[in-house]
Amino acid sequence: MEIGQVLKKIREEKGLTGAELATELGKSGNSYISKIETGQKKDISLQELKDICNVLKVSPQIFFQKDDKPKRKFFFDNALFRDEDVISEDAQNKIKELLPKIAKSYRVKKSLGDNPITIDSISMGFTVNSVKDAKKLAGLIREKFELGSYAIDIFNLVRSGFNIYVIGEDLGDRISGIYSHDAKGNPVIVYNSASQYQHRNVFTLAHELGHHLIEEGKVVVDELEHQDNQSEHFADAFAAELLTPENSFIQKFKKVFPTNETRIGANHVIELSTVYKVSYRAIIKRLFDLKLISYKTATKLREAKVMWRSDYRPDSYYTPLTIEEQIKIDLLGAIQKGKIGTVKAESILGDEINAE
Ligand SMILES: [Zn+2]
Repeated sequence: MEIGQVLKKIREEKGLTGAELATELGKSGNSYISKIETGQKKDISLQELKDICNVLKVSPQIFFQKDDKPKRKFFFDNALFRDEDVISEDAQNKIKELLPKIAKSYRVKKSLGDNPITIDSISMGFTVNSVKDAKKLAGLIREKFELGSYAIDIFNLVRSGFNIYVIGEDLGDRISGIYSHDAKGNPVIVYNSASQYQHRNVFTLAHELGHHLIEEGKVVVDELEHQDNQSEHFADAFAAELLTPENSFIQKFKKVFPTNETRIGANHVIELSTVYKVSYRAIIKRLFDLKLISYKTATKLREAKVMWRSDYRPDSYYTPLTIEEQIKIDLLGAIQKGKIGTVKAESILGDEINAE
C-alpha cells in the first residue's frame, strides 16, 4: 500500500477526520491530509511522517510494511505492539536481549527436522475473518488432534502438535507473551515466566497459537492490559474456544453451578478450573463472556482472593525453560536419538554438552 492509503486507513480506524488530524498537526483545513492520502503530495519529509505518527500513536514502520509477503524476522521494530508507548523500557530491553537467542534456535530446529504446522494443514484454504471463524478454527483443531471436549495440554499441543518453539522468559511486568520467528521463519512463542504471571500461561499459549494460525508470519507482542483490536479479539476468541469449548462448557456449568446465582461461590469456579485446566480468572471471564453469570457475580468471584492460589498450573509451567535451557535439552534429545553428533550439537550451542 502507498503511504497515503495507509494513512487513510489508520486515520479512519482512529475515528479522526482529515481536518481533525491536520489541526493536531498545527495545520488548518483538510487539504494537507487529503493531498497526502490521495497521493498528490509526494514530498513528505521524515519529520512530517514522524509528526503524523506521534499524533496517531503508531510506529513509522507501519508505512513501510510490504503486504505481499509476511514478515518473518524477529526485528524489534517490526513487532506489532498494541501501543508502543505503554511498553516500559525494561521490557523493550528484555525483548532486544532475547532476539539473538531466538535466532539461534533455528539451527536446533533445522537439526531436528521439525516442520511447523500452519493453518493450511488444519484445513486447506480456511481463513479467519471473524470471531466466529476463530471459534470454528479452535473446533477444527480439537477434531484434528482428537482432543475431546475437556482439558487439553496446551503446552504439549503447541510444542509437539504444532512444532512451535515454546519458551518461558521473565518478560517483566508488562508483557504476557510474544509470537515471533527465528531467523529461518520458524515460529517461536515466548511466555512470561515471572512467577506472578504463571497462572496466565495456559491462556497465553493458546492465544499466541491463535496468532500463529490466524496471522502467520507476523510478530506480536502481547501486553497484559487488554487492548481493543481485531487481531486480539480473534486470538482471544480462538483461545477461549480451544481451552473451554462453548458447548461442553455450558453443559458443565449447568451441572456444577447452582441455579440460584447468589449461591455461586469460588468452589464452583475451581471445579470448572480443574475440569478445563485453565486459571480461576479465565473461568470467570468465560462465564461472563458467555453471559452465564452477571457482572456483579463475576466481580464477587474475582475478589475471592483467597482462591488465587488454586489457579491451575500444569507441571510444565512450574519450571519454565528459558530459551538457552530449551535449546540444550533439544540438542541432548537429538544426540540420544542419533539425529545429531555431539560435535555439531556443541557447535550450535557454543558450549559443551554434558550428556549424563
Ligand atoms: Zn495477542
